[in-house]
Formats: sequence, structure tokens, C-alpha cells
Amino acid sequence: MGLESLLKEGFFTSRVDALLNWCQRNSLWPMPMGLSCCAIELMSAGDPRHDIARFGSEVMRFSPRQSDVMIVAGTVTYKMAKVVRKIYDQMSEPRWVIAMGACASSGGMFRSYSVVQGVDLFLPVDIFVSGCPPRPDNLLHGLMELQKKIEREHSVIGDGSKLSLPLN
Ligand code: SF4
Repeated sequence: MGLESLLKEGFFTSRVDALLNWCQRNSLWPMPMGLSCCAIELMSAGDPRHDIARFGSEVMRFSPRQSDVMIVAGTVTYKMAKVVRKIYDQMSEPRWVIAMGACASSGGMFRSYSVVQGVDLFLPVDIFVSGCPPRPDNLLHGLMELQKKIEREHSVIGDGSKLSLPLN
């Protein structure tokens, strides 16, 4: 049976990891790690004007066990960094991190002994969003870049003979 006739019958073929990546990237549930002013713009991303639901990410979870992507929005002090890392460790894999704004990305204007100069010092950051604060549109752009990154990832690990899915 040719491809055209299969499609007419309602069949399509794909790779398993392409299917998993498609599901994951279109339902990224955020862990809103709002720590200071950037968190206001994070909240604005969910309003009807910006409508983060278009990307399947309207379900903000306040439990790390139900979250896929941690959005660190705000200034991170060394005292708080331990808590942020602990919450990240409690998230199920696969998991991703967005550093939102100048403070989360680099410490911003706070060249201070008490402020972490970028959350990538203690978290594996996937996407950095620039701005002080970034507009909600910038965050949505970062989310779209993360979706593109997930599209290229290998969800299925193994040589094909013995598949292991990274599901917890
Ligand atoms: S980047 Fe600017 S808006 Fe965001 S937390 Fe830092 S000072 Fe506040």
C-alpha cells in the first residue's frame, strides 16, 4: 500500500521520539519560580492579551512533581539558591529551565556578595531570556525556542533493540 493510500485511510507514520517530543513540547507545565519584579511579567504572560495557553503552558504548577519547566524569574540570593535547587531536584525528568530576565541570567544590576551571578551556576539552564524585566512577549519567544530545542532532543535512549523511555 502506498503512502498516499495510507494517508487516505487515516494512517500516518512517525518515530517514537518525534511523537514524544511533540507531546512534551506542546504541554510544558511551568514551575513559576517568581522571586522578585520579573515575576509580574511572568504572570502577565498568562493574561488574555499574551495568552500563554496558545503554547500549552497555561497550567502553572506549584508542585515541582507536576512541572516540566522551571521559570526562574527574579533576583536569586545565595540563601534562596539552595531552595531553588532543591525544588529543581524534586521535578521529574525530563525537565527544563528558563532563566527569565537579567537578574536570573547574570545577577543583573546586583553586583553584590549576596546575589548569585546567574542561575546557570547551580542549574542547567536551557534558555536565557533577556530584559529588565523582559516583556511577556520575550518570555513567550523563549518558550518557543525551548519548544524548538525539545523537538531536536532524543527522547528514546538506546540502540533500538532495547528501548528505555526516560519516564519517571
Ligand atoms: S531583571 Fe530587572 S525586573 Fe527582573 S528581577 Fe531583576 S531588577 Fe527586577
